[in-house]
Amino acid sequence: MQTYYCPACMTTFAPYMCSESACPRCHTGTRRSNEPMSLEADSVFKEEMAKRAAEEQSKRTAAAFEVFLEERQRQEIAAAVEDLIRDSRDTA
Ligand SMILES: [Zn+2]
Repeated sequence: MQTYYCPACMTTFAPYMCSESACPRCHTGTRRSNEPMSLEADSVFKEEMAKRAAEEQSKRTAAAFEVFLEERQRQEIAAAVEDLIRDSRDTA
């Protein structure tokens, strides 16, 4: 089986673990190899996937918070405009 060897991690990965032949752990280039996959390759890959999923999650949370802030700001502006209109009506 064709595998990919990362000299930095000294780990041999299965091809599906290396997108564009980059090491899933350190993201540097790997070498094509015919060695069997390393025993730890699977757990390294899964760990990396979990890390990426957590990063995605926090990015989504940050984006949702941004939307929330914008919405609150929009409401505050609308309320301020309403106050101004009410004030000008009262003084007129
Ligand atoms: Zn590596």
